[in-house]
Order: sequence, then structure tokens, then C-alpha cells
Amino acid sequence: MLRRIKLATLNLMKAAGVFELVANSEWRRHRLLILCYHGISLDDEHLWRPFLYMNAGQLATRLDALNNMGCSVLPLGEALTRLQSWDLPPRSVAITFDDGTYDFYKQAYPLLKQHNLPVTVYQTTYYSDHAMPVFNLMCSYLLWKRRDKQVIDAREFGLSESMEVRTEAGRHRIVRGLIDLSDREKLNGKQKNEIARRLAEILGIDYSMLVARRILQLMNEQELAEVVANGVDVQLHTHRHRTPDVEQSFRQEITDNRERIRAMTGKEASHFCYPSGVYRKQFIGWLEKEQITSATTCDAGLARRNDNQYLLPRLVDTTGRSQLELDSWLCGVGDLLSFHRAAPQRYVLSKDRPE
Ligand SMILES: [Zn+2]
Repeated sequence: MLRRIKLATLNLMKAAGVFELVANSEWRRHRLLILCYHGISLDDEHLWRPFLYMNAGQLATRLDALNNMGCSVLPLGEALTRLQSWDLPPRSVAITFDDGTYDFYKQAYPLLKQHNLPVTVYQTTYYSDHAMPVFNLMCSYLLWKRRDKQVIDAREFGLSESMEVRTEAGRHRIVRGLIDLSDREKLNGKQKNEIARRLAEILGIDYSMLVARRILQLMNEQELAEVVANGVDVQLHTHRHRTPDVEQSFRQEITDNRERIRAMTGKEASHFCYPSGVYRKQFIGWLEKEQITSATTCDAGLARRNDNQYLLPRLVDTTGRSQLELDSWLCGVGDLLSFHRAAPQRYVLSKDRPE
């Protein structure tokens, strides 16, 4: 109901010329919209996680919208410098992708290239060195694919004999159980991949086919080197996609991530993005010590000159967001009307430990 009212209001505002007015205002001129994307489906991932994925056709429509609204799409570093010096062009936008998945390489990168748009990829690096799917995501995806099944016998994973697969909550319980099992047994990436393979077998899914298609995998060294050679900006997202509460471990994640990016691309990374959008107050001092230039969250908003450079808001754009809503953010109206800025973190399974 609330959403219907919101969309009706946006429609009215657009028809009355408010979008255009705000888009051309001085107010919008001094603000930067940082867009955040995750995955672009290789198959049906946007149906599995509509708040994480979109399909390639939808991304193409989004990129056209940037053009139609006369947005100035800038490289992230330049946009942040110009935000500070009060020198942004009209309707400034920076495009970022989280994680650096293979589907970025296969689906998003060709479209961005075709539209001649700069992009920053926040690359998590553990799975770039290991050609296998991200464990927790793959387990969740496999179970979703068999959501028509009633229950599975999960005793061999230390879970109960009849685990519910039909509901989101039931599937979540199984994934949680598998993550806890791999934590408890201190399993490495290879061993966890074997669990995912066995789960697929129980569910009657051809795992080797999913692996061969690179579903839920990250870009490898060659793919990363190729996109960087073609102008893609690769920045920090921690090595193992996690932000430990202990300073030394947190900073080690940055160091490992930075070293892997340097080794794979020859570039020095200094911009950071919080994995799953999760941040805590103490992280800011640790990022400062690591001489990080900026850090972005998943909280909705336009970035302003006086914002804390380690808490820059971004707009997460997925299948779950309508084109009208995105347009409202491109022109700035979305920021004026936004009451719930903090990211819902609904797709987070934050205890995942891939190593
Ligand atoms: Zn991420």
C-alpha cells in the first residue's frame, strides 16, 4: 500500500515537472549519486535474489536512462574529488559494482563498454584465486532451485532428517546449518565446495554444469587483468568478504585484498566498500590508518561535500526497484523523499568464512 502511494506520488511529481526542476537545480548540482549494482544474471539469479540481481536487459535500460536524463557519469575517484571542490557537472553519477563476479565480466562489462561509461568494481579476492562458486550463495541457490520439493534428508550434514525446502525461512535454516558446520569443522574452500556438490547431488542438480557456466563465481586473474586494461577501476572490498571486529584482522583483510589486487592488475587500490554494507564506528579509524581514500555503504542517499568520506551513501539498484524510482534518484527527488536510508541487509549471511 505504502509503495503504491509512493509510486503514485512519484508519477504525479514527474508529470508536474518536479523531476526536471530538481534535476536542473543547484541543489542537485552539488550532490553525487553513487549507484551500486551486484550481479547481472547469467541465468535465473534475479528470480532467486531480486534484491541482489537484475538481468542484462534491465541493466541496458538503466544505462539508457542515464543517457536520457543527461546524467554526467564520472569515474568514482574523479567524482569524489570534484564533489569536494564544488566542481561537479550537472546530475553527477558514479557507477559501482560489488564483489567482481564473473557475471560482471560476461554481462555488465560489455554493456558498460558499449555505452562508454566508467565503472568501479569493488573486488573481493579470495574466490578470484579459487575457481569455485561462493559457498553460501551457491547452497542458497541450489535449495531455491528445488523449492518445489517438500523436505530433504540432511542428516549427513549434521542437520535433521526432514529439513523444509519450500519456504525461504526453511532454506535459510539449512544454509545457516551448513555454514555453522563448515565453521565448526574449520573446512577450507575445497572442502566446502564438496559440501555444495553433495547438496546438489541430493537435490538432483547437475553441479558440474553450474560450475562450468561460472554461476556465482568471481572474475579470475585473467578476466580482471583484461577489464582493468580496458579502463575498469578495481577497488577494495576485503579479501574474504568480511569485516572482523578485531583491528588486526580487519586491517589484514584490507592488506590481503590490496596485495591481491596489486598482483593481479598492477594497480594501487585506495577506495573501499563495506562488504554487505555492514559498518561499525570503530572501522573508520582503522580505514584511516590504512590510508583509505573513501568508503561507501549501501545506505540510500546522494553524497554531499560534508559527508564523512568513510560513510558515503549509495543507491542499491536491483530488479526490486522500478525504473520510475531509479529516475527519481537520478534527478534527486528520491533523496528528498527518502525516509528509510539504512540498508535492510536482508541478503546478508555475514558469518560466511570462505577460507
Ligand atoms: Zn559484497
